[in-house]
Amino acid sequence: MALIVHKYGGTSMGSTERIRNVAKRVAKWARAGHQMVVVPSAMSGETNRLLGLAKELALQSSNAEHFRELDALAATGEQASSALLAIALQAEGMSSVSYAGWQVPIRTDSAFTKARIESIDDARVRADLSAGKVVIITGFQGVDSEGHITTLGRGGSDTSAVAVAAAMKAAECLIYTDVDGVYTTDPRVVPEARRLHTVSFEEMLEMASLGSKVLQIRSVEFAGKYKVPLRVLSSFTPWDIDIHEEAKSGTLITFEEDEQMEQAIVSGIAFTRDEAKISIIGVPDKPGIAFKILGAVAQANIEVDMIIQNISKGGLTDFSFTVNRNDHVRAMDLLKSQVMAELGAPEIIGDAKICKVSIVGIGMRSHVGVASRMFECLSAEGINIQMISTSEIKTSVVIDEKYLELAVRALHKAFDLEKNQA
Ligand code: ADP
Ligand code: ASP
Ligand code: MG
Repeated sequence: MALIVHKYGGTSMGSTERIRNVAKRVAKWARAGHQMVVVPSAMSGETNRLLGLAKELALQSSNAEHFRELDALAATGEQASSALLAIALQAEGMSSVSYAGWQVPIRTDSAFTKARIESIDDARVRADLSAGKVVIITGFQGVDSEGHITTLGRGGSDTSAVAVAAAMKAAECLIYTDVDGVYTTDPRVVPEARRLHTVSFEEMLEMASLGSKVLQIRSVEFAGKYKVPLRVLSSFTPWDIDIHEEAKSGTLITFEEDEQMEQAIVSGIAFTRDEAKISIIGVPDKPGIAFKILGAVAQANIEVDMIIQNISKGGLTDFSFTVNRNDHVRAMDLLKSQVMAELGAPEIIGDAKICKVSIVGIGMRSHVGVASRMFECLSAEGINIQMISTSEIKTSVVIDEKYLELAVRALHKAFDLEKNQA
């Protein structure tokens, strides 16, 4: 008998019919003798619907009071789906109880809309499990030290599930979703994408941070820190498939490199449209300039991703960087009002129609020429590269958003990632 955590995403919880299927699947695992903790997301579309209602009332605000209410609002989506799942389990003849984050409690910091989990008190959950109950814990939410409801950022139910699994030392955390594992790239963009049987923790971390939303990055960080056995699998298989077969399906996140992984130079391609570029043309090329520009941006709590500074011509240089698209307007306004005059009023250009495409693979550590193969492939498609950044196991480029699909498909082919290849 093992303690197992299941997480079900929004699509998997998308209707009462699907919730009934989740309940049947969970009941199957419980009847096989496992202690079950289940972390559901809100029903698909619900978080967007709720946040859309807030937007109708107040377009944009950077005010902390506003963010507090956004969290109080968004958290209701998971509360509803958790209670519905408990009701469905009870209808299956299982004893079940659902808890909101604050009832567990899952304690977080107070960064509304992007809170971090600090600790989880599992006493209540353990008592319920010992009493033979299936315990449902709302994904995506927690409570801060003042008792305010917080949420963990979009896609945060993955993180709730892995954090609960880590805190309770679960034997495994199974992330059930609408695809049957982690693919070489998003199968919705490249239908030829291939499912990976295993993916290393480091590669998964890069893929998640570079835009593959199949797992929220913080869930992967938690899994790495606490060595939580983590698997991504489909909730759309028949609920009554053989439990041993199910337990081996999908994609396992591994913590040790095996020989097979070493062979794949590039394991996957990630992409994101969430970025926007800011270029400042003709800034004086002298010490302190980067700090003047990026210091002001950091002060406003805006994260910067890629940065490029060109060589200077006549003592002037160009400076470009990317920020999250949601922060683009704010960053531009701030630079225009606070920084540009001090820099001698150079030209500032914003571009929100960009995207970032990345190739990821542990094998890049030991192989040269991988980045140049990427650039060759993009040039063959006539795609201009605007920015480049590299790390040991990834190369990312910023390109015009209109070439996103073309670039991802071409790279997927160029690195032999298609089905039946490797
Ligand atoms: P859930 O609601 O279950 O949390 P998400 O929509 O957050 O599901 O994540 C699953 C989606 O992630 C898939 O439907 C797929 O389109 C997308 N995705 C992006 N990159 C990948 C990838 N490399 N492998 C699998 N799915 C991916
Ligand atoms: N419901 C939240 C969202 O849509 C959390 C999640 O689904 O993981 O972002
Ligand atoms: Mg998700």
